[in-house]
Amino acid sequence: MARWFKARSTIQVRRLMGRLLGMAIVFVCVLAVTLQMGWAQSLPTSQVHPIPAILIQAVQRLDPAVGPGDYFDAIERKGVGYLIWSKFPVTVAIDELGSDRWKLQVTTAVVEWQRYFPLKIVSTPETADIRIQSKRLALKPDPKTGKLPRFRSAETHYDVFVNKVSDDSDTKHLSHRMTIDLASGQADGVMLSVARHEIGHAIGLWGHSPNPDDIMYFSQVSKSPLISSRDLRTLHRVYGQPTRLGWAITP
Ligand SMILES: [Zn+2]
Repeated sequence: MARWFKARSTIQVRRLMGRLLGMAIVFVCVLAVTLQMGWAQSLPTSQVHPIPAILIQAVQRLDPAVGPGDYFDAIERKGVGYLIWSKFPVTVAIDELGSDRWKLQVTTAVVEWQRYFPLKIVSTPETADIRIQSKRLALKPDPKTGKLPRFRSAETHYDVFVNKVSDDSDTKHLSHRMTIDLASGQADGVMLSVARHEIGHAIGLWGHSPNPDDIMYFSQVSKSPLISSRDLRTLHRVYGQPTRLGWAITP
């Protein structure tokens, strides 16, 4: 029996005209969830994992003058708890079939995140924790307006499943895997910005900031922000929360 959850985060890209000076593109992420809770009785107890040392150090280095703000309240807590990783480094497979331009922008986004979070690029998409795929996305009506967007830039979804800790152990853990579908054929800066944003979702920022200076802002301004202190503080708070992911299933 399939034992997994699915969820999606969709980015749609539209071009703005006229009075929106300085803002060329906006993307709108729509988060939707489908959960299968029939096996909730065997879920692990929700507990806190150790926070990655590199993330702790990154937050400690932040300039206090920038302010202590975060957008933790915007991050969704799912039925399995916060969508955080507990086995590091988290492995990332970048689609070999993507164009050179696409792969360069996606790799750059991963490298940017590696300054703050333990990510490792691997060439084994079948077993990677996060898969980033070059894919043209089918158009879907905007859930708010009902209109079809001109273009969809990216979509991130996750699966939750049960797997063995090792081949010589019967212990099974509740695990998850993230998949990012990211369209090619966009301007380099847009692909980089979208990849940066979607990787944020994939490592635990499952929500959107109300502040345009954060990479997890629901829209993108023409001058894309870099990973902000608020992004890092939010991620740090998320990793201090309990989750059922990464813990052993009770027989
Ligand atoms: Zn988003």
